[in-house]
Amino acid sequence: MTTELIFVGTELLLGDIVNTNGAYLAKKCAALGLSLYYQSVVGDNEERLGEMIKTAAKRSDIVILCGGLGPTEDDLTKETAAKVMGKELVENKHSRKRISAYLENYVKGHADRKITENNWKQAMIPEGAIVIDNDNGTAPGVIMEEDSSTLILLPGPPNELIPMFEDKIFPYLRGRLPEIICSEVIKICGIGESQAEDQIRDLIQAQSNPTIATYAKTGEVHIRVTAKASSEKEARKLMRPLVRELKVRFGASIYTTDEEKTLETAVVELLHNQNLTLTTVESCTGGALSARIINVPGASEVLKQGFVTYSNRAKKKYIMVKKSTLKEHGAVSEKCAKEMAKGGCFITNSDAALSVTGLAGPDGGTEATPVGTVFIGCCLKGKTTVKEFHFNGSRNKVRDQAVTYALILLRECILENYENR
Ligand code: ATP
Repeated sequence: MTTELIFVGTELLLGDIVNTNGAYLAKKCAALGLSLYYQSVVGDNEERLGEMIKTAAKRSDIVILCGGLGPTEDDLTKETAAKVMGKELVENKHSRKRISAYLENYVKGHADRKITENNWKQAMIPEGAIVIDNDNGTAPGVIMEEDSSTLILLPGPPNELIPMFEDKIFPYLRGRLPEIICSEVIKICGIGESQAEDQIRDLIQAQSNPTIATYAKTGEVHIRVTAKASSEKEARKLMRPLVRELKVRFGASIYTTDEEKTLETAVVELLHNQNLTLTTVESCTGGALSARIINVPGASEVLKQGFVTYSNRAKKKYIMVKKSTLKEHGAVSEKCAKEMAKGGCFITNSDAALSVTGLAGPDGGTEATPVGTVFIGCCLKGKTTVKEFHFNGSRNKVRDQAVTYALILLRECILENYENR
């Protein structure tokens, strides 16, 4: 079913607010399997909005309009949609009652506010339209099922739009679709997007239903398999062989197939399952690695300690990096990363320690050690592995990548240790 989205509001058009509803609704359309072909933003101008609705209704089965349902003069969406479709606006008693109850309650809590006449404008609905109650505000949503197209009018504030869409519009649209859409995700780490695509080029080329899409994240690739069928059971059955094939091809690089699980969650679970404790020893990431681990509920059971040893002095004093190492190799070196990881394990008596030392920039790079050079060390049960990376991007981007690759290295070391047992 072809779909398009129209966002109404001069403040959106001029960039005063970010169109977060656009990202939200586009994702929901994809989840429903709707063919979303256009997204437009238009200011609070009746003529231009009218033109846009006319064009959209001609070319799309579903047109979702967002914003401009408020009580003020410049809120024109409902009025314009009704005019374009040749409908009168009539007062909806049910909506008026709800608006009245909502406002009376609101006024009680805000002594300086009173109900004004223009509030009742929100109870005016295009004749024959379906009214969608708004549980979080006064503007009801509206569905106009016209011959050419269905117009769905939604309030602009995300705290009103999102619950309305989740509870009422999503089921309505799903009910109108002949097929349902299901998807599964496979999250891979330690392999770049081009390499991942290369490994599944034949599958991508042969895809029809289910389809495969890859999404690159920092240090990760997410592969989404999506199928359309008459029932969820049928869609899952269609996906099964492809998901199995992807699991075979990516093997241990897959850290989860759980939609909600993050890399740090998977790593904390791995530590927990293997009964391992961890210490972090950070320089250029300044605590970001331990912060990311601590984001995971239950991290306290595995994370023993986090050191931020930013200065050379701290590296010597707290985690036993040798003076000679710093003098001969510098703080951004393989040897320093190794000693940091070993020192971390030794001092805290942890099973594992992760160290990060690098040059996040923007200044300080040399030919031998350019900005973006990062050494990550992992000491696990007495064996220390150090990897050298050359990351691109801003200071924060370099630090962000360093954190992700530290988690990936720890995961690899644990899996290797597990295999070797
Ligand atoms: P109201 O009853 O509040 O006037 P409305 O349906 O008329 O609601 P708008 O007036 O267009 O909606 O927008 C109200 C507020 O909702 C905006 O100031 C903005 O904070 C938020 N908003 C509107 N559209 C979007 C959008 N596309 N993305 C994110 N926020 C939005």
